[in-house]
Amino acid sequence: MDEVQREFLDIVTQVKAHLEYQRALGMSFVEMSSRGGPRAAAPVASKTGPVKTVSLSGEKPFVSQSGGLAAVREELGACTRCKLHKGRKNIVFGEGNPNAALVFVGEGPGQDEDEQGRPFVGAAGQLLTDIIVKGMQLKREDVYICNIVKCRPPGNRNPEPDEIMACEPFLIKQLQAIRPKIIIGLGNVAVKTLLKTKEGITSLRGAWKSYQGIPLMPTFHPAYLLRTPSDKRLVWDDIKKVLAELEKIKTG
Ligand code: URA
Repeated sequence: MDEVQREFLDIVTQVKAHLEYQRALGMSFVEMSSRGGPRAAAPVASKTGPVKTVSLSGEKPFVSQSGGLAAVREELGACTRCKLHKGRKNIVFGEGNPNAALVFVGEGPGQDEDEQGRPFVGAAGQLLTDIIVKGMQLKREDVYICNIVKCRPPGNRNPEPDEIMACEPFLIKQLQAIRPKIIIGLGNVAVKTLLKTKEGITSLRGAWKSYQGIPLMPTFHPAYLLRTPSDKRLVWDDIKKVLAELEKIKTG
């Protein structure tokens, strides 16, 4: 494959990932200006010409396609949608109660998770498990735990934007399948991705946000807490807010 072909393939991959992302958000069409001008915010005539809608696939909008977590896993398949597949041992899809009221979203698998194919099973995972079991008095199997990207970034670097874009449709579908009452976003990558913000976790943590109508509590990532144990008390403050909300939901 020569340079031009590689570049073309790259563009096609990115466009495909973007369209999948849009579809996962429930968009069944894309808006297009006939003269290629800037995209209109709503399907009305733009200055550059009438807006057309183009079906992505002829399929129904995503909301009516959801067949549960198993269907999402099946659709993910032996994923090669981004470059992370090259270095992975196992896809780390996520685990827990498919009807969980509470979902934790982390960043991406580390070495232990890659080896076992399970989320949060290394040192940071042990701390998360302690938060769930000892702190929240819940069972790990009662919640659902997943990540922004499902394959391990090499050397535990942060996932890159193209990797996040390729993988995010599957997180969106997981959350749509589970329909949790509350999401806890763990750390910068998870929270910035979910909330589409550039604001950092230090200023976001501890205050309720909303993800597709679901209350979302941003808090520090357990790996950060391993490096900065003095901030565990801040995470506990955040977790107490989640527990209070869960209690309210339980008692109606
Ligand atoms: N860190 C994460 O963000 N996710 C895991 O699954 C493990 C460590």
